[in-house]
Amino acid sequence: MAGNICYNHAMQLGNRVYVDFLGCKLNQAEVEQISLDLTGKGFVLSKNIGQSDYYILNSCAVTSEAESKSRAKLARAKRQNPQIIRVLIGCCGQKDREKYFQNGLVEYVFGNLDKYDFFAVLPPSPPSHLGLPQAFLGRKRSFVQIQEGCDNFCSFCIVPLLRGKPVSFPLSQIVATVKNRFKLGYLEVTLTGTEIGAYREGEGDLVSLIQAILTHTEIPRLRLSSLQPTEITDSLLRLFKDSPRLCPHFHIPLQSASNVILKKMNRMYTIEQYSAALNRIWQWLPQAAVTTDIIVGFPTETNEEFQKTLDFCRSTSFSRLHVFAYNKRPGTKASLLDGQINDKYKKERMAEFLELAVQKQSNFAQKHLGATVSVYVEGSRNGLYEGYAPDYLRVCFPARRDVSGQIINVRVDSLASQGQFVWGSENF
Ligand code: SF4
Repeated sequence: MAGNICYNHAMQLGNRVYVDFLGCKLNQAEVEQISLDLTGKGFVLSKNIGQSDYYILNSCAVTSEAESKSRAKLARAKRQNPQIIRVLIGCCGQKDREKYFQNGLVEYVFGNLDKYDFFAVLPPSPPSHLGLPQAFLGRKRSFVQIQEGCDNFCSFCIVPLLRGKPVSFPLSQIVATVKNRFKLGYLEVTLTGTEIGAYREGEGDLVSLIQAILTHTEIPRLRLSSLQPTEITDSLLRLFKDSPRLCPHFHIPLQSASNVILKKMNRMYTIEQYSAALNRIWQWLPQAAVTTDIIVGFPTETNEEFQKTLDFCRSTSFSRLHVFAYNKRPGTKASLLDGQINDKYKKERMAEFLELAVQKQSNFAQKHLGATVSVYVEGSRNGLYEGYAPDYLRVCFPARRDVSGQIINVRVDSLASQGQFVWGSENF
């Protein structure tokens, strides 16, 4: 089999497949499409590794921790079911395919570039109507991939080495996929990719794509994954202002508020441009939520530079902060920089930031007290339902009937877990 490494194993005749993933929304989008394709080809999506014939893992190698989680999942699958055939796809396969095979962690390995070739190792299967992807995913939001790859080469990031140059999917194909997801019962779709702002088709860009989806589909809610500050244009914000179907939540990774560090990170913006992007958002959409990513302990980061980032985040109305300690990835430019920060300082900086992150989520939740928000209900646990408001507020509430998969109005009554989510009531 070209492009993969095949372990000599006994022919498997079963058609039950357990599909798993780690990492970003893009991996999740790919897994969703793979699950749909598997169902279309007659495979049954299984929720139980012990009763599956194949275990497919769409892996993540963005940090060393993600890699070790991927390895642990593969080992666990074999412990739970010694007969299972493990197929590793995605970033770990792209980075170290030989190693996974030699360590006996997999029977088949595929990278990102030949990811979909794995279908060829599965036996032909008669059509099946069981195991719909929704049931497998256990959630009601759907992720649709619009492009693959990135050539920004941020100096800390291994992704361009694993995902290759940006390639956009045809607009007509994306519109058809969104239509199809709506037909399957999903009421919300998130557009995802490695760098969705790099979306291009002819003269068209992300704005034209969103416009086409709004015009040609009936999907009630459309959400965007991560954007760069330079991609926050007036034409994008005008679309959001004009369409209540677009969820007013922007994830714009900042990483650092120091221009010196941003330059070393090879980020394509300054802190002034970042601030200008936020101001533009809040001028057009005063209620919009903005979340961000921060890296602490990037090589050479001084205490002053760290404080600058902390102060910037303190004084900005982010609804959520995702904080990461810098993780050295071999093959990246940042891994070669002098001035690597030791773990003790990284931990201290993380701890300070995490305290602020809790405050931010709590402030954001607090702003909603007494308000009525529309919640897309994703599921229930112990008689309680939970879902997200358009601005990504997580809401839990009791209901006497089954409201899973519906969009309903809920009043926000109180905060829980320091604002990680809010309690609400439906009948008010
Ligand atoms: S934009 Fe930067 S951080 Fe994001 S995938 Fe591309 S290189 Fe990595």
